[in-house]
Amino acid sequence: MHSGPREKCGVVGVALDDRAAARPLYYALYALQHRGQESAGIVTHDGFQQHDHVGMGLVGDAFDEADLDGLNGSVGIGHVRYPTAGSVDTSCAQPFSVSFKSGSLGLSHNGNLVNTADVRDALAAQGHAFTSDGDTEVIAHDLARNLLDGDLVRAVRRTMDRIHGSYALTIMHDDTVVGVRDPEGNRPLCIGELPDGYVIASESAAIDTLDGELVRDVRPGELVVLEADGSGYETYQLVERDRTAHCFFEHVYFARPDSVIDGSLVYETRRDLGRALWEESGVDTDVVMPVPDSGRAFATGYAEASQDSGADVEFAEGLMKNRYVGRTFIMPTQDARERAVRLKLNPIRSTVEGRTVTLIDDSIVRGTTSNQLVDLLRDAGAEEVHLRIGAPPITAPCYMGIDMATREELIAAGEDVADVESTVGADSLAYLSVDAVAAALTESRADLCLGCVTGEYPYDIDGETTDRDVRRPGVDTAPADD
Ligand code: 5GP
Ligand code: MG
Repeated sequence: MHSGPREKCGVVGVALDDRAAARPLYYALYALQHRGQESAGIVTHDGFQQHDHVGMGLVGDAFDEADLDGLNGSVGIGHVRYPTAGSVDTSCAQPFSVSFKSGSLGLSHNGNLVNTADVRDALAAQGHAFTSDGDTEVIAHDLARNLLDGDLVRAVRRTMDRIHGSYALTIMHDDTVVGVRDPEGNRPLCIGELPDGYVIASESAAIDTLDGELVRDVRPGELVVLEADGSGYETYQLVERDRTAHCFFEHVYFARPDSVIDGSLVYETRRDLGRALWEESGVDTDVVMPVPDSGRAFATGYAEASQDSGADVEFAEGLMKNRYVGRTFIMPTQDARERAVRLKLNPIRSTVEGRTVTLIDDSIVRGTTSNQLVDLLRDAGAEEVHLRIGAPPITAPCYMGIDMATREELIAAGEDVADVESTVGADSLAYLSVDAVAAALTESRADLCLGCVTGEYPYDIDGETTDRDVRRPGVDTAPADD
């Protein structure tokens, strides 16, 4: 069994006119692969019954031709799951699927509830048995229960009244596919139009892959119901809040640069963040080089802004990435993580040797990457190595679905920038300010989730402080009638 926290994942749902949904879902999951590499799954419905297949590993490993051929029906949902240390079996892979008295249910979840235990206890007291300790199963059971005496829209609203936290969901109830985004809009979710149907996905890059058009983001607190024949969709604003809590880290690191999230193209946001880095803490080195691939857009913006200011810092590729090494974050031990950085990145001597260098990465979490890369560049002959980071210092954990480690593991928790600078051994280190992040995202600070950099969360979390007037719903009573 896995524990709920730290799931950042990718979700998708499609409803098509005539075509089998399995392959479009498979392609969409490929487009969302960066959001999760531990497991992948698809659930479809053929009008009579539900079909599912879930496999471990990358999308390409999780399915073969026969698996896809067995997923009948022109509607379905899919999921890619982010690896969390310790969970290596399919028991917690998604979509989660159940059959119950009033039909079948499949559920894909990106995000993390912060009142899972409360809801699970309440449901257990009503006779529900759980096979995992994850939050997705809790949502599925609560929804199944609400579907017993309500229509889908009412059931989803009741469940939303009970769960607290972040969730972007694609759900299949019999042959109806819906998308739901939590009331604060913490995780991304968008709607796309296909030549023969509609799609709901975590990121618009998945819509592009299917030759579709991005229609718009799903609004915070909104339910989108796709017509089973792919002819259209209906939307219901089920919960309304006066503030959002969009995750800034989606824009800084997690999402693909070619995706549009909450109206902004991620690549352009990162470039603006790079420009802001120059404006806040630019240093006139010979070259600026990105940590590939996540630092590239930042370094581009940084070089451009330096040129606008007359300093003319040259953009250079100074590190070559071995694209066959997985994300270093998934390594269970510090030793393995350090080894992985060396496996993954190697300096290009000619661009580094005898030069002063600004190295740009999107973020520092444990400090493993920066520490090693500063050494690596010095070994390759860099005269100076200045580190610039496209996010503020990460000083607190994420409870909303990004794997951000504990305070003890975070290099910037309880340390000031000078301490981190000497730990990683850079000639200078500067992070971006929170205000610059908000400006680049063209959102007010008040509408962002900045928990991991401020330590104040937009949700009511045990042992943490909140930055707003939020209360967990009471879950020990039967859901209120509507
Ligand atoms: P660190 O090495 O400081 O622990 O992690 C920072 C590096 O990991 C940066 O290069 C950043 O691009 C990347 N990173 C930041 N957040 C995440 C994450 O949630 N998952 C993964 N796989 N990498 C991350
Ligand atoms: Mg990186």
